Amino acid sequence: MKSFHFIQPRTLDAAFAAWTPGAAWLGGGTNLVDLMKTGAVQPDRVIDLSRLPGLRGIDTLADGAMRIGALVSNADLARDTGFAGRYPMVAEALLSGASGQLRNAATVAGNIMQYPRDAFFRDLAWQQNEAPGGLPAILGTGGTHAAVHPSDFCVPLVALDAVVELQGPSGPREMALADLLLLPGEGDGARTALRPGELILALRLPAGTEAFAGHSRYLKVRDRTSFAFAQSSAAACLRIEGGRIAQARLALGAVAPKPWRVAEAEVILAGQAPHPDLFRRAAEAALAGAQAPDGAAWRIDLARRTTARALALAMAAAGTPAQMPALPASPFAPQAGDIAHA
Ligand SMILES: Cc1cc2nc3c(=O)[nH]c(=O)nc-3n(C[C@H](O)[C@H](O)[C@H](O)COP(=O)(O)OP(=O)(O)OC[C@H]3O[C@@H](n4cnc5c(N)ncnc54)[C@H](O)[C@@H]3O)c2cc1C
Repeated sequence: MKSFHFIQPRTLDAAFAAWTPGAAWLGGGTNLVDLMKTGAVQPDRVIDLSRLPGLRGIDTLADGAMRIGALVSNADLARDTGFAGRYPMVAEALLSGASGQLRNAATVAGNIMQYPRDAFFRDLAWQQNEAPGGLPAILGTGGTHAAVHPSDFCVPLVALDAVVELQGPSGPREMALADLLLLPGEGDGARTALRPGELILALRLPAGTEAFAGHSRYLKVRDRTSFAFAQSSAAACLRIEGGRIAQARLALGAVAPKPWRVAEAEVILAGQAPHPDLFRRAAEAALAGAQAPDGAAWRIDLARRTTARALALAMAAAGTPAQMPALPASPFAPQAGDIAHA
C-alpha cells in the first residue's frame, strides 16, 4: 500500500487548508480503504472527516424539507423513525445494501461517492474502455462500456429529487444529486461534478416528497438476499388520489452509471388508474433505449420486470410500514399491507 499522510481536521477551514490535489476525503472508509489496499486508488493525503462538527444531524427544516448530515451512518438513517416513517422506500434501500457491519460504518456522503468496481473489489470499473469489470451499464452509455453505479440508497434519492449541499475552498453551493453523478463523456472524465477540494456537507429531501410515503417501495434483485450488490433495482412511488395515480416517481438502479430516473414512464403513469398492464407499459418505456452486451439481453428483461413489480408493490404498500420487512427490498419480502398501517 502506498504511503500517505493521514490528517484529522477538527474544523472545515482546517479540512480545506489540508486539501491538496491528489488528496481524498475519508468517510467510513468502507470503499476508499478497500481500494487503497488494492492500489486501485492511491491518494497522497487522506483527510478524515469524522471529527468535523455539525455533519451528523437528521433535521426537519422550517420549510418541511429533511436535511441529513454527510456523516450520518447508513444504519442510523435507516433506523431513524422520523426519517423512515416519511421515506420508507429510502430506508428500505439503505437496509438492502451491504451488511449490518458495513452499514454501521458507511456514511451518507460516502455511499453517494462510492466508486463502481468489479465483483472482487480489486479494480476500479469506471474508465470506459479500460474497465476491467463491474456490472456493465445497459442505459446511459451510448453503447460504450461503463459499469453501473453500485449504490442502492441513491436510487430512491434520485426519484425524490434529492439535493446535495456542497462546500469547497471557494464557498458553498448546492445541486441536484442527479446532476452530481456524471455519465461517461460528461465532465472531462470525472465521475462526479465535485470541484477540486469540494466536499458534501449534507443531503436534502425537498418539502412535499413525504407525500409519496404511503405508496413507495424499493425493490432489489440480487444473487443472494444479503451482502450483494443489485443485479437490478427500482424505486417506485405513487401519489394516489381518487383511485388514480396523481403523480409518479420512478428511478432504476444497476442499469446505468448513475441512478436512472425515467421521466417518460412517469408521464405514462400520471392520471391513470393503477393496473398491472399500465405498470408493464411504463416499464417497457423505461427500458426502451437499453442496450445489453452480447449474451446479456436477460438484463433488460430483468430490469423491465423489476420495474413493473416495484410499481405493483408500491401500489400495494398501503401506508408507511410500521417496521421494515425482515428481508428489506427483497422479492421475498411481504408484498402487501400485512406489515403496514395506513
Ligand atoms: C462487501 C461490500 C458490499 C457492499 N454492498 C453494497 C450494496 O449492496 N449496496 C450499496 O449501496 N453499497 C454496497 N456497498 C458499498 C458501501 O455502501 C459503501 O462502501 C459505503 O456506502 C461507502 O461509504 P463510506 O462512508 O465508507 O465511504 P468512504 O469509503 O469513506 O468513501 C467513499 C468515497 O466517498 C468520498 N467521500 C466520503 N465522504 C465524502 C464527503 N463528505 N464529501 C465528498 N466525498 C466524500 C471518498 O473520498 C471516497 O471517494 C458494499 C461494500 C462492500 C465492501
